[in-house]
Amino acid sequence: MLRGLFKGLRDIVYPPVCLSCRASLKNKGSVDEAVCAECWGAIRMNAPPFCEGCGRHFPAGTGRCPACSGRHFHYDRSFGACRYDDRIKELLHAFKYGGRDYLGRTLGRLLAAFYREYDFLFASAEILIPVPLHPSRLREREFNQSAIFCECLASASGKTVAGGMLLRRTRTRPQAGLEKEDRILNVRGCFLVENGAPLAGKHILLVDDVLTTGATLSEAAKALKDAGASEVTALALAN
Ligand SMILES: [Zn+2]
Ligand SMILES: [Zn+2]
Repeated sequence: MLRGLFKGLRDIVYPPVCLSCRASLKNKGSVDEAVCAECWGAIRMNAPPFCEGCGRHFPAGTGRCPACSGRHFHYDRSFGACRYDDRIKELLHAFKYGGRDYLGRTLGRLLAAFYREYDFLFASAEILIPVPLHPSRLREREFNQSAIFCECLASASGKTVAGGMLLRRTRTRPQAGLEKEDRILNVRGCFLVENGAPLAGKHILLVDDVLTTGATLSEAAKALKDAGASEVTALALAN
């Protein structure tokens, strides 16, 4: 009852607004009292045909899109649940930098929905692993967004999360704002696997929040392959 009272008071002092369009959520349908139903419905999910390199929607059909043709990735394939447009950017920003860790579960619904819709793409993956943050960054943010998304996928798939094996040994500069070549150099060698014996011969589903150039996920996949993983599928919330 106290919790209900507190929520009632909080809603009077800070009436909840949609984190995307800022409209009041009073008397309006919403998802988790965070995003209005209209904005939620306007999120653009990625749909087939997918580019064979980055997993983005690729209307031309087979092969790779111009953004990733000719590039080598250490993962075997990658996908993103939705398009990385301004709406998703804003929601991810509110989640990661606005101290709204509860938004992770809300956004995680998109990943879970994508997983369920295309489960045949992920059926043979055996272990889920989130892209780790450097310990000092984790202390600052207090949560790893990719680990929260990974938990959402674990609930949707019934598969196990192996946290703590893939580590980030260097605190890299944020990838945002760097050119493609600088992004590749920025993350080179930044991951390592510790006590990775359980990964040998396994197909890993590697989870992150965003895939833009694929540099971070590719480097993380390299560390997993070096540790003996046989296959790595990368899945991001947005790409
Ligand atoms: Zn809205
Ligand atoms: Zn592509």
